[in-house]
Amino acid sequence: MPNYKLLTPGPLTTSHSVKEEMLCDRCTWDEDYKGITQKIRTQLLELACVQEQDYTAVLMQGSGTFAVESVMTSAISDNDKVLIVTNGAYGERIVKMAHCIGLNYREYRVAYNAYPNEAEIKEMLEEDQAITHLVMVHCETTTGILNPIEMIARVAREYSKTSIIDAMSSFGGMEINIHELGIDYLISSANKCIQGVPGFGFVIAKRDKLLACEGNARSLSLDLFDQWSEMNKDGKWRFTSPTHVVAAFSKAIDELHAEGGISERYRRYQNNNQILRDRLERMGIHTYITAEKQSPIITTFLFPSEDFNFEDFYLYVKERGFVLYPGKLTEVDTFRVGNIGEIYEEDIQTLCDIIEDYMEGCQHA
Ligand SMILES: *Cc1c(COP(=O)(O)O)cnc(C)c1O
Repeated sequence: MPNYKLLTPGPLTTSHSVKEEMLCDRCTWDEDYKGITQKIRTQLLELACVQEQDYTAVLMQGSGTFAVESVMTSAISDNDKVLIVTNGAYGERIVKMAHCIGLNYREYRVAYNAYPNEAEIKEMLEEDQAITHLVMVHCETTTGILNPIEMIARVAREYSKTSIIDAMSSFGGMEINIHELGIDYLISSANKCIQGVPGFGFVIAKRDKLLACEGNARSLSLDLFDQWSEMNKDGKWRFTSPTHVVAAFSKAIDELHAEGGISERYRRYQNNNQILRDRLERMGIHTYITAEKQSPIITTFLFPSEDFNFEDFYLYVKERGFVLYPGKLTEVDTFRVGNIGEIYEEDIQTLCDIIEDYMEGCQHA
């Protein structure tokens, strides 16, 4: 079997012990298994800094996109209208969902390397009173830009709008005080910063908002309200649950606590990211996103020269134990390096040594 570390933003490199949890087959209706689901739901609320009386956690089968779509189809009724802030592919994917579901929506699109403007958002809300919901991606994994959720959450509160945040690639790796921010729906998945394996996503929802969603969904399997009402009884999932993935996720949460919680994981990711950017900068490989807007999750790098051959570079690095990620921009040539998952400073230093060797080889070629 190939043995390399994934420097991708999920699925990512997981620990041996997380993988080991999947060696046992669990029964979906047995108390042992349902107990794991309930424990995870409680732990997610703790990680989100919210109380059980105000918020609830719902797990949803599928990749992260399924969880986002379950919120879009369940939280926004035909009488509502959603403003979707986009500066990357994941925001644009939410626009596509809105189109497929048939929601009333409006897109506020900004450049991939820019922040949305608070005044412009307020203007749209004032001019279009029909808007009831605000959606934005926290860390836009397309570029690695870290969007201002504090601002969006504040505007949503000020204008009494429902806020929906796709925190897929940031939750668990950065402290997000959902209670303080007053976020109504926050979405993430098993295979990102909590460092589990892919198979389900989860939603941390404000209880009163979710309870008002009954009957809204235009999908059976993605009905977040129904999923919640079944799961909330005793931890039994509606339809087959990804048992191995759930067990691995439970182990991954234990390991997050053992590391010292989100603040310590953030410190490790931040350190990984800083070393990576500093060392590549010294080699003449610059970032697409400026430092103050950069997330500690994933970085987009510009090709160092016109004749830089990504395929060749990718294979060179892969043969030496690391898998990188191609860029996702159309107007500039880029590649991406994720630094989340079971990745430590020594891994990043080794990677940078490999890249340095490659760059020197290129000069002599
Ligand atoms: C990973 C990710 C998703 C979900 O992608 P899936 O491929 O469906 O898991 C959504 N939004 C963001 C910002 C992501 O990073």
